[in-house]
Amino acid sequence: MKIGFIGLGIMGKPMSKNLLKAGHEVLCFDLNKAAVDEVVAAGAKAAGSVGEVAGECSFIITMLPNSPQVAAVAFDKGGIADSAKPGTLVVDMSSIAPLAARDIHNRLKEKGIRMLDAPVSGGEPKAIDGSLSVMIGGAQADFDEALPVLKAMAGSVVRVGEIGAGNIAKLANQIIVAVNIAGLAEAMTLSAKAGVDPELVFEAIRGGLAGSTVMNAKAPMMLDRNIKPGFKINLHIKDLGNIMDTGHGVGVPLPLSAAVLEMMHALRVENMGDADHSALVRYYEKLANCEVKRQ
Ligand code: NAD
Repeated sequence: MKIGFIGLGIMGKPMSKNLLKAGHEVLCFDLNKAAVDEVVAAGAKAAGSVGEVAGECSFIITMLPNSPQVAAVAFDKGGIADSAKPGTLVVDMSSIAPLAARDIHNRLKEKGIRMLDAPVSGGEPKAIDGSLSVMIGGAQADFDEALPVLKAMAGSVVRVGEIGAGNIAKLANQIIVAVNIAGLAEAMTLSAKAGVDPELVFEAIRGGLAGSTVMNAKAPMMLDRNIKPGFKINLHIKDLGNIMDTGHGVGVPLPLSAAVLEMMHALRVENMGDADHSALVRYYEKLANCEVKRQ
């Protein structure tokens, strides 16, 4: 199948490569030429514009930072709304505000273009090995049509409801990840300052109730003092902002999310917005005046 792929960042690059491995034809576009070159070297074709992708592909995946970029690709002059044929299916796999997903869906629908919101969880490692978890909002028939393509990138694909529901599920996911990383950072800092090797603490507790996918992915990064993203603090600030707006909109106070959002803002002030979100440990190290590292 010929698939248009727009947005070749940390996630989009390995995801599009997995589509190629599964035998699909990929026509790709990104503002960053080096990213396009990398995916072309893996067998994709390069498009010169969003309009070229939309004109040639009736199945388009977008993997962009946030709502404004998805809206720009959809509605800027020469974008998807101007160039795609009626009946085209857009699968937006970016994590964006649920209300924005509904709005973009409704505006595309006026042009006869279909859309699913299909954000993912699993990060770069699962994007590379093709085992992402995808959470989908949209029409059942569109989900059924997209499923075989999505399976080339995912271990799990679940339709959670109508358009916007995928991004509600993603916000739920991001609350749990953010609070989990903050808890891990707090625990690693306590261990280090109390004079107990945090690596041995990790080994001792990872198989018990506190163990988690987040702990297995992020404790080694904290111990190695590795802050290369992964998932950038700036993107988690974006998600936590969407969490606060959505929660307050439906009447849900979010005290834990609010606390972690402020920790991440403090790190952004320290020029760590492009660091991995496991750099939350640096926030705690500063409070406690100590370092978490392998001994
Ligand atoms: P990224 O910043 O690495 O990549 C985004 C890409 O979009 C960049 O290559 C950028 O050049 C491109 N882009 C931006 N505006 C564009 C435009 N108008 N036209 C064409 N290309 C444009 O981000 P990422 O880490 O790949 O994340 C992408 C999305 O996936 C985000 O919504 C993020 O929250 C979500 N996500 C990321 C991870 C992760 O671990 N990195 C995990 C799950 C979900």
